[in-house]
Amino acid sequence: MATLTLHPGKERSVRRRHPWLFSGAVAQLDGRARPGDTVDVVSSDGRPLARAAWSPASQIRARIWSFDIDESIDHAFFKRRVAAAVARRAALPELAGQQGLRLIHAESDGLPGVIADRYGDTVVVQLTTAGADKWRAAIADSLLKATGCARIYERSDVEVRSLEGLEPVTGWLHGAASDDELVIEENGVHMTVDIVGGHKTGFYLDQRENRRRVAELARGRRVLNCFCYTAGFSLQALAGGAREVVSMDSSGPALETARRNLALNPQLDAARALWIEDDVFAELRNMRGAGESYDLIVLDPPKFAHTAAHAERAARAYKDINVQALRLLAPGGLLMTYSCSGGVSAELFQKIVAGAALDAGASTKMTARIVQRLQGAADHPVDLAFPEGDYLKGLLLQVD
Ligand code: SAH
Repeated sequence: MATLTLHPGKERSVRRRHPWLFSGAVAQLDGRARPGDTVDVVSSDGRPLARAAWSPASQIRARIWSFDIDESIDHAFFKRRVAAAVARRAALPELAGQQGLRLIHAESDGLPGVIADRYGDTVVVQLTTAGADKWRAAIADSLLKATGCARIYERSDVEVRSLEGLEPVTGWLHGAASDDELVIEENGVHMTVDIVGGHKTGFYLDQRENRRRVAELARGRRVLNCFCYTAGFSLQALAGGAREVVSMDSSGPALETARRNLALNPQLDAARALWIEDDVFAELRNMRGAGESYDLIVLDPPKFAHTAAHAERAARAYKDINVQALRLLAPGGLLMTYSCSGGVSAELFQKIVAGAALDAGASTKMTARIVQRLQGAADHPVDLAFPEGDYLKGLLLQVD
């Protein structure tokens, strides 16, 4: 096995159990290693620290599989890590039995570059790094054994793979497509999941608990769901007794699936649902011009900042939609607002939203208070040693 020696002092992050080794930390590689191969990581004075996956194309030159220098990285390793991740979910009552469930949340489950989501008896896996890519067969086999699922589909078609020198890979790793449409039940609502063409692995599982919260808050309210995708928040609002739910997205196909989801739930009153295919930035302004107002607004935009370097431009975009949404709220109204940008911290996001509230309040005399801080669901845990995993943050505001 090749040995990766760190520069002096660069062992500190490893001792704090951070799993990434950037190019600037690496002094040399002795021996031969192909992309994805396991290497021994040692400090500048030769003390063994960890075992990691080598990725020469990436700025993150190695990702640590194990901080135990005696642990072999082999099929049995993946079997243990996958089984442990599945067991962690089974031990939490709100997760046990969920039909849509994230089984593996990459670094935070000790498996850098590995995402696995379960939808009924189908697992969708996404491998984003050279190390994860190399262990595809072991990971797929371990998932089958740990879950008893019938089929595994790979959705490794994300842009970040190019940073690792990897081509996109999609297709069935085990089993084949079922003739039936893939539908899951979430908080009592049926949702179709397009694992082949949908975003991420087909569905935004991270918002499950927050969608449930919307159901609790929606009764009697006029709701606006911005960036609605396939209407997850919208259908929960209808289920919770909303008076009307207006859903907006710029994607025609997403709205088509959204309507299909509504049709899958005959218990919901379809007459209360309205759909707008448009740009949220423009349409929020139009609504204000038309004198519209809402009692509950959800803002769950796509990632505006892909890295911390884009945080400033992202901040302007977040501020803009939050100002516009706050101006549309009726007195006593609620705003549920999110950022899923890793480069925007919870603290920065709160500052941005506070700035938006000041701007909105200047014309409307509105004041806003945080009544709840929101985050991803428990199947998207954040390893305390890996704060980068804490990407989803939200605020529930009440205005008057
Ligand atoms: N809230 C959703 C996930 C939102 S994903 C859920 O719980 O499932 C983000 C969505 O924003 C995507 O559907 C994308 O089509 C849409 N989108 C991106 N930019 C947009 C814009 N400027 N205006 C309207 N929709 C946009």
